[in-house]
Amino acid sequence: MAKISVLSDQVANQIAAGEVIERPASIVKELVENSLDAGATAIEIEFKKGGTSFIRIEDNGCGMSEEDASLSLQRHATSKIRDADDLNELTSMGFRGEALPSIASVSKFQLQTREVESDSGTDILINGGKVVHHRECGMPPGTRMTISQLFNTVPARRKFLKTVSTESAHIVHYARLYALAHPEVAFTLIDDGRTLFRTPACVRLRDRVMEIFGKSVAGKLIEVEAKEMGMRLSGLIGAPGHSRSSRHEMLIFVNNRPVENRTLGYALIESYYGHIPKGRYPVAFLFLDLSPKDVDVNVHPAKREIRFRNESSVRGFAVRAILEALQKSVEIVAAPVVRSAPVGKAQTFDIGDSSEKTVESKRIPILSSPKIDTPVKKAKVSEKTKTASETKSVSIVTEEVVFENEAGPIEEVAQVVERDWQFIGWAQDDYALFDTDSGVVVLDFKAAQKRVWYARLLASYENRTVESQKLLLPLPVEFDPVSSAMLTDNAELLEAYGLEVAPFGRNFFRIEAVPSWLPEKEAEAYLGEWVDLLRNGSISDKKAGATQELLAKHAVHNIVRGASTPGETELDELLDSLFQTNNPLADPDGRPTFIEIAKSELNRRFHKK
Ligand code: ADP
Ligand code: MG
Repeated sequence: MAKISVLSDQVANQIAAGEVIERPASIVKELVENSLDAGATAIEIEFKKGGTSFIRIEDNGCGMSEEDASLSLQRHATSKIRDADDLNELTSMGFRGEALPSIASVSKFQLQTREVESDSGTDILINGGKVVHHRECGMPPGTRMTISQLFNTVPARRKFLKTVSTESAHIVHYARLYALAHPEVAFTLIDDGRTLFRTPACVRLRDRVMEIFGKSVAGKLIEVEAKEMGMRLSGLIGAPGHSRSSRHEMLIFVNNRPVENRTLGYALIESYYGHIPKGRYPVAFLFLDLSPKDVDVNVHPAKREIRFRNESSVRGFAVRAILEALQKSVEIVAAPVVRSAPVGKAQTFDIGDSSEKTVESKRIPILSSPKIDTPVKKAKVSEKTKTASETKSVSIVTEEVVFENEAGPIEEVAQVVERDWQFIGWAQDDYALFDTDSGVVVLDFKAAQKRVWYARLLASYENRTVESQKLLLPLPVEFDPVSSAMLTDNAELLEAYGLEVAPFGRNFFRIEAVPSWLPEKEAEAYLGEWVDLLRNGSISDKKAGATQELLAKHAVHNIVRGASTPGETELDELLDSLFQTNNPLADPDGRPTFIEIAKSELNRRFHKK
């Protein structure tokens, strides 16, 4: 018997799937490309559980006849090229005819499709490479592909999947890329029933960027438009001074295909020399169009990488085009400043970073007795509220009453201080005891410190005067690809909270500065917590208020955890600061900072009149 045998289609497909279908997001990529190739003007992407349990891609493209639908599931079946020569003039996204059979070999795969001309559609269900049904169906023109039970035939592959949020993040990334590349196509992205974005067809790239990345990003972009020797470079790039700590927002498209390409990446970075600080990266949504003959896309199975036939002419053209765009914008925006400034300091006119620098120089040094300079609200104290708050503090003694936020007007409490608390001593480590005119006060000094720091941190977030401290030796850390992506995506956000992280090499980062309150040895753990919070969506720049509160709360717990008992002067300062906050009665979690046992309560307890 011969030792060599030809692999069955099913096995061959599964092997191909190993290359093409790295993860759920690869399916989204392949199917969206197919929809685009089919001339769709609307594409809807829905997924559940990071795509592992469900993916649906639906389009209004040309659809397939019944015959083509069956053929499309066969290996190397493609409508896009006929012979090898066509490879030199690719205009479509797909060409290998591998995606559909590969996907169908490793999942439960349903293909429903209808051409406009035909009255009904075709519905083919395949499970692990075997046809379950093949029938007629009613549907609007277009194609719908539904994938469930991904990797059911290759359980080993399931093990390589990352968490649901990681896989989701990859899907979102691809959806964004293709939505950017095709503003003329309406895109909808739905994650577990939640619509992540729904962008109508738009004419301008800037509108698309705004829909996907938000107004603030879109507002800082300038246009690039240049033509040379049959090449065209267009798109949007960051205005001088607008930079990121990573190259994650340098998105490059060649012939409308999102790609990774060193030549263009370097050209970009080089062009920004002097326009953004060293070690920072520009933001760019750049589109290079050139004859398909001059590009080799057949380098990488997933077609992510490309090569140019003539690297140096592409590079030269890109640099010239970008420089020209930057120059133009400088002339318009900041001409007087640029002319008077020495060449080396060209970046001083940049709005983004120079303001960042001013903030840095204004940073107040960290100190042990935090003072809050938020103005004290003048509130009139009525007798009524006063009694109410007194009764409240008393009742805490017997039952656990959690203070609501904004309890009691400030003036009133400030008066309590004036009433003079006589410090008696410490009890049970954390409690400071005071004798007052009207009774006894028990203060939880850590709760008080929490409140004070909380107010102070929130104020610093608000005023953008977050104190950070450069690490003497930047600390290298490694993350998985999606965490890395999250970090690079959010580098500016991190920085606003005193955490400076710079990428170096794939998935490696250096922590360069941390919030002043953080002990250096906890830097890595703290960054890890950030990544978790970013991943589960608890913090983002879209939810500034909630994010600030969460981070401030988190910070105060850490600050106060190891705090040692204050001396008497420090305690005095702490009380001063406490009563200047907007809610001295409770810590940020709503627990009381102090309780007051009224003399009358003492008397009652001791059965005195
Ligand atoms: P490729 O895209 O490399 O040709 P695929 O396996 O992705 O290979 O698709 C096989 C064929 O199925 C395509 O060439 C195309 O003719 C057809 N096809 C796939 N998806 C669609 C779609 N959404 N609409 C219309 N035709 C499609
Ligand atoms: Mg394809």
